[in-house]
Amino acid sequence: MEMNMRKQEVLAEGFQAELSEKFFRYVAIDTRADGAAPAEKEPSNPAERAFNSMLGVELTRAGAKDEQFIFLSDGSLIVRFDATAGLENKRRPCFAAHVDTYPKYPGGAVTIVHDYQGGDIELPKSGTVIPAFDLRNFIGQKIVTASGDTTLGADDKAGVAVMMQLAVDCLAGKIATHGAFDLWFCVDEEIGRVGRSGVKYLSPEIVASWTGGLVNLDGMSPNGIDVGCFCGYELIVEFFGNDAHPGVEGSKLKAAHYAAARLVCDAASAEFRLPWMSEAMQNYLYSTDITGNASQSRVTFIPRSFEKEDFALIVDRVKELAGNIAKIFGVRAAFSGYGLQYVNTEPPIRQNQWLMDALLAAHRDVGYDTKENHIRGGTDGAMVNMTYPDLPSPNIGAGMYNVHGPREFLVISEMEDCYRIVRRFLELLA
Ligand SMILES: [Zn+2]
Repeated sequence: MEMNMRKQEVLAEGFQAELSEKFFRYVAIDTRADGAAPAEKEPSNPAERAFNSMLGVELTRAGAKDEQFIFLSDGSLIVRFDATAGLENKRRPCFAAHVDTYPKYPGGAVTIVHDYQGGDIELPKSGTVIPAFDLRNFIGQKIVTASGDTTLGADDKAGVAVMMQLAVDCLAGKIATHGAFDLWFCVDEEIGRVGRSGVKYLSPEIVASWTGGLVNLDGMSPNGIDVGCFCGYELIVEFFGNDAHPGVEGSKLKAAHYAAARLVCDAASAEFRLPWMSEAMQNYLYSTDITGNASQSRVTFIPRSFEKEDFALIVDRVKELAGNIAKIFGVRAAFSGYGLQYVNTEPPIRQNQWLMDALLAAHRDVGYDTKENHIRGGTDGAMVNMTYPDLPSPNIGAGMYNVHGPREFLVISEMEDCYRIVRRFLELLA
């Protein structure tokens, strides 16, 4: 009750019904990314571009001018808002959310709103059950789910809905004074293409104008802000051998797949640490797949560390190991792979402590005792930081849980709080 009072002080307008209406409408549209699409196909699913066009139409109807829109070639959309009089020289943040959804399940959710009072939630399709354990913090809350056979797509339509509500309220003059800000509706985040294709269409001038940072609305709980994340690396080791009849001319066999199997086994050591042997800020070395036969085999490694300097040593050691194993089996080893995929977002965030101060204060003012998270994965910001290493890019929560599967759910009050937090953050910057 006390918390609700505080929220009322922060924001008096009744935006809740409009925000939920947007969310329900957006998640009903299937915009899942297509990981199998060739890199040249931008966006991977044309529905993402159509979705952003629809957002553009909505904002035009709400009063946005053509010159506020920048449609990037990858299908993403930037909407720019000028400062109100007198606040032109305040910091300009860009808020970002991705319009694509997780590729491995269909989108286009048929939503169900639950007045959650405890227990498992059984969804009508595919026998999907959301266990009570996942919901234990949300008794008495309104929870939105899909029907069991699709993702909900709150990741990241919750962030999209919050940004659209902000835009509409701004265009309606409900935010009396504010500094300039931008909204970036990205595409293909779920297949890691924001940093590779999305960023290449951003003009450096626009990025330079984001003096208020790039704030992603793509996290789970408003109780945490993702400040740091893993640096990602990819190394592919290939072995080339010689196939022969194992009985008749077995001595001619140079079995490349044996080398691959041996490499994966030997790399499963305390020296490199496996995902299930590491936690918190510890790094790991993991092989995502191993394929092949006697003539050719292939092992993909994805080392992860919070320090990108660690990779040089890890990669050297894997190459040394692979070289020794190649000798044992009489095969040839070759190395390729993407190399550095994304970097830890923390260094530029630490260089811009004012941003964290403002974000934490905004969360506090809306009633949260928010902590900083270091997440054992990559973020959108981590990919953007590959090209723009100085741009601080934290990630705040929008109320989505169990993402990337049919058990995904949204806590409506947390999505509303995300909107309040963004509003409060804008106030604090002004
Ligand atoms: Zn996401």
